[in-house]
Amino acid sequence: MAVSIRTYGDRTLRREASSVDVIDGETKRICERMVEAMIRANGLAIAAPQLGVSQRIIILDLDGAFHVLINPEIIEHSDECEERDEGCLSVPGAYGPVSRASRVRVRGTGLDGKTVEIEGEGLLARAIQHEIDHLDGVLFVDHLSPARRESLLREYARKRKEAAR
Ligand code: ZN
Repeated sequence: MAVSIRTYGDRTLRREASSVDVIDGETKRICERMVEAMIRANGLAIAAPQLGVSQRIIILDLDGAFHVLINPEIIEHSDECEERDEGCLSVPGAYGPVSRASRVRVRGTGLDGKTVEIEGEGLLARAIQHEIDHLDGVLFVDHLSPARRESLLREYARKRKEAAR
């Protein structure tokens, strides 16, 4: 089965994903598809809704560490923020400046059912916040100013049209 990443305009990307109640073989298969799609797209992180699966699962492959986080929650974040250009596998080719907490601590469950806690800063902190946003139906473009969002999406639509030709 081909694994394709849902892109801007797809409705699953805008839904609030459901918590995972039971971690089973199906959860494992979803994670395998997520890893496959992430690797194929050269991504550093991915959330289940990007594959059309409305469940609270994210995968991070950053700083030499690989994490599966089921039902992740940010339990601590710095007041200090950092603004950097951000992109998304679901809005390919588009980048814009997003301000995020520079350090976060996240707690979730691993595929083995054990609690996982990670503290991240810099790119890892940014990826954690970006992926958890996906579970709430939020995309990075939502964090841009209306004017910037409009011009980014206009440019994105133009490029997509060109690519489809
Ligand atoms: Zn994304």
